[in-house]
Amino acid sequence: MSIGEFELIRRFFTRPPRRFDVVQSVGDDCALLRPQTGKCLAITMDTLVEGVHFMAGTNPENLGHKALAVSLSDLAAMGATPAWVTLALTLPDPDERWLNDFSKGFATLADQYGVELVGGDTTRGPLSITVHAIGFVGEEGALRRSAACWGDGIYLTGELGLAGLGLEILLGKSTQNVPEAVAKLERPQPRVNAGISLAGLANACIDVSDGLAADLGHILHASGVGATLDWTALPLPSPVRQYIDMGGDRWMPLRAGDDYEICFTVAAEREIELVSKMGEFGCSCVRIGHIDQQMGLRLRQGGMVIDLAEIGYQHFPVVD
Ligand code: ADP
Ligand code: MG
Repeated sequence: MSIGEFELIRRFFTRPPRRFDVVQSVGDDCALLRPQTGKCLAITMDTLVEGVHFMAGTNPENLGHKALAVSLSDLAAMGATPAWVTLALTLPDPDERWLNDFSKGFATLADQYGVELVGGDTTRGPLSITVHAIGFVGEEGALRRSAACWGDGIYLTGELGLAGLGLEILLGKSTQNVPEAVAKLERPQPRVNAGISLAGLANACIDVSDGLAADLGHILHASGVGATLDWTALPLPSPVRQYIDMGGDRWMPLRAGDDYEICFTVAAEREIELVSKMGEFGCSCVRIGHIDQQMGLRLRQGGMVIDLAEIGYQHFPVVD
């Protein structure tokens, strides 16, 4: 059954106020928001297009979750505290069940972090979802890609390669039965609390959306440094180890995107402080390597040092 645009906005995207700093939410020509004084606004936008970023028929509740999660992940990678979001939704034909499930996935994640949906746009066309997210961060505490320094430890939240395995399973390239891998791909947990705790503590930070090698590569490039990762330190969950043992691509965990973990660097003299703060993250976090003076990205594996540029990690096609 199809419903009109205004009824759709009212039923699925208008909710009681959640934040004191929202003067006008959904329902007028613009939202009116009261920014925190003395802070920078951290602003990010991400689009998910059917057939490009997700497959046709993807569970709408998961899609609502993921559309918001990827933007919250960008805020986390900047050390920002999320506040407000807007949503541009392009739908072929408004289906009430789909909208109900999509808005539920979106709202549940928004509530988890006290984020308010304050506006958006609704149009007809091929299914596409754009989320614009705004948060706050102190100018000094913001985590920029360009701030990694020689000697920093490199850290990663959560686990690596599970979303990549989920994609292999969905594409029929792996016959492993790992529901948590598909769940990680479809419902990533943005590392919001970790990002907030790291503001002013980490040097550089990025979220892993295009694969660890490529994303860490952005930090190295922006900071003018290199890095060495330690294979044995990479947090590979057992289904990912099994995937490799069964003949799967051993570089998959470094290459695959969609994990939405955050990778960051911390000065050696602040690593003890970091460890004492990890309890606030709400997820695991491990040291996976260090920043070198020598440019490039290397991997230490069983006494050998492999140049990751030579395995061509930067040439893998990346769809954003
Ligand atoms: P206008 O034509 O003035 O741009 P719209 O009719 O597009 O207004 O939207 C009416 C109100 O609904 C606005 O406050 C807008 O921000 C909000 N809105 C529209 N689509 C969405 C959506 N998908 N999610 C949240 N708010 C939306
Ligand atoms: Mg409009």
